[in-house]
Amino acid sequence: MLRKENVHFRKTNKNTVVKRVREVYLRNDIPCLSTQCPKEPPCHEAVKVESSLLSAEQDYYLIPDYSVALRYVELLEQEELTHIIFTETILQRLQSEDKSRTYKSLRQVAKDPRRRSVVFSNEHCKETNVLREPEESIEHRDWRALVQTAAWYRRHLHGCANIILLSEEFNQEDVLRIDDTTGIKVMSLKEYLTQFWPRTAVLHELLTSLKEAILEEDLENKTQGSTTSKKASGGTGYQEYKPLSELEAGVKSERFFQGVMRVRANHRDQAFIRGDANIGEIVIVGSEHRNRAVHGDVVVVELLNKSSWVAPSTHISYNPEEVHAAAEDEEESSSGVRTREVKPTGRVVGIMSRNWQPYVATLQEGSEKEAGSFHLVLPLNPIIPKIRIRHHDAKVLANQRIVVRIDSWPVNSQYPNGHYVRSIGPAHDLDTEISAILIEHGISVSQTTQGFSEGSLKEMPINTPERPWVADPAELSRRRDLRNHIVFSIDPPNCQDIDDAISIKEIGNGQIEFGVHIADVSYFVKENSLTDLEARARGTTVYLSDRRFDMLPKVLSEQLCSLRHHVDRYAMSVMWTLDSEANVLTTWYGRSVIRSACEMEYEQAQGLLNGKDVVPGLDAKICKQLKPSVVLLAKTMRKVRARRMAKGGLELESSEVKFKFKEEGGGISDILPKQPLEVHQIIEEAMVMANGYVAQRIYQGFRESAMLRHHPPPIESHFKMLLRAAESRGFSIDTTSNLALANSLRECAAKSENDIEFVKLLKTMATMAMSEASYISSGSMEVSKYAHYGLALDFYTHFTSPIRRYADLVVHRQLMSCLLGSTPQTTDNSSDFLRNGLKMEQVAGHLNYKNRESKLAQKDSTELFQTLYVLQKTRNPAAVENGGNDPEAEDLPFIETGIVSEIRENGFFVFVPRFGIRGPVYLKEKSGEISIPLSALKQSSAGESDHLVTISGCEMDTDSMTQISVKVPPQALRAHASSPNVLSLVQFRLFDKVKVALRLKKSLAHRHTIYMTLIGLDHQATPAAVSGTGKIGSRTTTVAPMKSHSGRLFKKAGEQLQQDEVKRIAQQDPSLAPLLQRDLIQGIQEGQQQQQQQQQKKGGKNSRKQQQRVVDLEEVYYQSRPESSLYNLIESFDRFRIVESNESPSS
Ligand SMILES: [Zn+2]
Repeated sequence: MLRKENVHFRKTNKNTVVKRVREVYLRNDIPCLSTQCPKEPPCHEAVKVESSLLSAEQDYYLIPDYSVALRYVELLEQEELTHIIFTETILQRLQSEDKSRTYKSLRQVAKDPRRRSVVFSNEHCKETNVLREPEESIEHRDWRALVQTAAWYRRHLHGCANIILLSEEFNQEDVLRIDDTTGIKVMSLKEYLTQFWPRTAVLHELLTSLKEAILEEDLENKTQGSTTSKKASGGTGYQEYKPLSELEAGVKSERFFQGVMRVRANHRDQAFIRGDANIGEIVIVGSEHRNRAVHGDVVVVELLNKSSWVAPSTHISYNPEEVHAAAEDEEESSSGVRTREVKPTGRVVGIMSRNWQPYVATLQEGSEKEAGSFHLVLPLNPIIPKIRIRHHDAKVLANQRIVVRIDSWPVNSQYPNGHYVRSIGPAHDLDTEISAILIEHGISVSQTTQGFSEGSLKEMPINTPERPWVADPAELSRRRDLRNHIVFSIDPPNCQDIDDAISIKEIGNGQIEFGVHIADVSYFVKENSLTDLEARARGTTVYLSDRRFDMLPKVLSEQLCSLRHHVDRYAMSVMWTLDSEANVLTTWYGRSVIRSACEMEYEQAQGLLNGKDVVPGLDAKICKQLKPSVVLLAKTMRKVRARRMAKGGLELESSEVKFKFKEEGGGISDILPKQPLEVHQIIEEAMVMANGYVAQRIYQGFRESAMLRHHPPPIESHFKMLLRAAESRGFSIDTTSNLALANSLRECAAKSENDIEFVKLLKTMATMAMSEASYISSGSMEVSKYAHYGLALDFYTHFTSPIRRYADLVVHRQLMSCLLGSTPQTTDNSSDFLRNGLKMEQVAGHLNYKNRESKLAQKDSTELFQTLYVLQKTRNPAAVENGGNDPEAEDLPFIETGIVSEIRENGFFVFVPRFGIRGPVYLKEKSGEISIPLSALKQSSAGESDHLVTISGCEMDTDSMTQISVKVPPQALRAHASSPNVLSLVQFRLFDKVKVALRLKKSLAHRHTIYMTLIGLDHQATPAAVSGTGKIGSRTTTVAPMKSHSGRLFKKAGEQLQQDEVKRIAQQDPSLAPLLQRDLIQGIQEGQQQQQQQQQKKGGKNSRKQQQRVVDLEEVYYQSRPESSLYNLIESFDRFRIVESNESPSS
């Protein structure tokens, strides 16, 4: 071993340069990390390799130089680029120049096994180490080092692979040093992309965009260098960050606080960090105090003077796009109940690390018409600030959703600087919006990876009509043959990826043999195969409302693994012998082969269970054969479930909905709340049982690294909302344990039998208080903490869905390893992975993240389709008749009954269970004006147009968060003296049923959002007597029901009445005119607008003026844009298919 000295210069925080001498021990056993290694054994054999190896199939490897690594890291991150050799030279230099973000990104690429990229320790390799010559620049020495490395690779691999040195800085002299015959090429990124990726526009666009950003940055640096007052913040109000040393010292001495900054989703002016245990949450208000930090950044905060502390906001945001995020905020705020106490308030003084992501954004309206190449874009996610990008031709970006990234945020710049990455399509086009959802949740940043790689597909078994897959006789002989058992599956209709099947029969002595059979995915997907790595990276199949993104290639997920009927399928089975009381006598685990008799649907199984002899869709013979099994299964699972419930298992509620799509013409035909059937519970119970048993079994074999799923008890304070809500109805809820909670909820349900919605909402509140369940490695916490609170089980894991969840696949491997004992059949290093607690913890963390993002994407897609449904329902045919471009056409009313689900300072949230839609009703405008529709004040004979007449100047009272009352002043009432039975006070309580009109706030830059306008209490729907309270009994319940009309008729009638009403009131009392509401006045204006419109159409040239609203209750603003895009969503409906989600509701 040779000793050598390497000299480095390092810039310190104080901008002085220090010389560092590092001793390097040169070795001659540094591995090449290529599968082409001609040595015997290959030189990487001796070392533990973290990454995957450079593969033999690639005929060239890439070595980026420092100029590329530093400034084009994003291009290297693109999944198309593989087989990159990251040299120690550039990594060391990134570190020494404090480019830790770039350094981490490169490491990340090397770590991703799908990228087949490696880190080569060239500085430690005897043959590639290069000494710096006297007077030689660092850049030049480093360049020589890379050339040396390239030459070594050529020699070592006997010229099997060409080497491409990527450089944006090389000059002629350096190029000449490379002999053309060596198989080493020097290329700029442009040359490389042109030669190897000529048609991959995404890469070319990104390169152009990065080059522009770099130009810009260089320019800025120059101008900054020339001005003396570097600290001038240019009126932005931002301040320079404190030096790192001061930040670190400040955090240590508790003068500063460090944490991840989160912007409140429903009030983006407010951000917060969690300080230490003593101080709790620290609020950061306004962009000046946020000081250029972006949501997710790790920041250092200094507290403000106590006199400047503020209380978090308790009103519903008036910003439409913030409102729909309100539910998310529930988890973020520590109490779940809004308090008005002041909280520690601070400002950001430094940033420890940035969390900048690719953001989906839209060009600020009109920006494309402005001169110059700088433009502001508005991120789709309203908590991300506007970003300034450079683009030479912004016209092509107008009305498009684009992906942008932030590069820097100088102190003198109001907005961060970023660059354009690529365009994903026209705004409000369905496919675009779905892509946006995926990108925002990190599900597939590159559209090219939605498919599986060629390499992965090559690993797949062949199953074509010509060459159907058949079970291997040798494999069959190793498996328990269950083909003579009656096995069946129960799933939603059209289920393609059938993970689980069941068998059950009486075996005498009152005993039952019960089996759960799960697709044997681990047989087909070998550990560390390309398919395995891809599945691990994806983590889960993502189910959106109208489509799904599979974790595994279709040949497995829909064919060979899927437990289809009438074919032999490999399974992992758990077989129990149960006594007549469903107590477990024996358990058997192992590989099996099954032949399902029937792919049943839930409805069909429920039919058999209800006693039917024949159910639609199944032939009589099958029904006769399966009915006893289904009945026995139900009988058995009821017992198992009852025992689990007695231990504290919770029956929770979610507001999940299903979309039904029109078969022809596109569009949503209906939204259906998920219909709970008993058979759902029965299947769920069987799966819970299997998961619980497998969890115990793998824990026996893997004390330190079993993949378990735990559900910690909720934080007590999260129950506040639930407790208050129950209290408002006269119930008390015991939350001391899951059993106590379950019993309390059951009691509420029993006493409120006639109010199903109340019970549902209460359970939903309980669900919202729950902590998140997550995967853990058993070694990471004490055994006592493994428990699953919601299911009331001491051990739990995910075993039953390996086709669509990676965790289950790991669990299958662990189970197999346990069953085979300590000597696994395979000789690869799989047991190493399964036994490595640390690695398992990492995988668990990754899967938790993927799971969460997938759920959020699902939620976003549900909201997108709900919005579409409202758009569809409220769309005025008049607008469509004019080619869909008449935004002045009034929306049609879409009236529904909902429940008051949350009271706020300026209004309340209403939940419409029919559609699973939650939205705000504002009683107080942004200006402070409080108003209420006439219809809400009438106890009886409310006219159809009464909700269009709004009484302003009211007073409001919300001292408790369970009720809100509006008082109407006498002078406002006078105008309606002719109307009989007009109340002067109206109260809204939590759980009250109200009639609302669902409306849509349209936006270009953001998603459309749903809001509601009040019509009044739904006296009909509110039961006269609610048990357990008595408080509500005093309210009058004699109101004529609203007559139902077809939308169009209603509209006509409404228009007429509206205008009559205006005239009448105006005649009676002219001073009331300002109190008249938007809709009212709009009626008068409609005529004028139509005239204007016609003039514009005649003129042709004039751009349409923005529609003026007289009383701007909810800040509805129509953006001027090509109106056709509004309806693109609807029109693109026929382009997609319906996919059923196979998600079980809990666990
Ligand atoms: Zn080698």
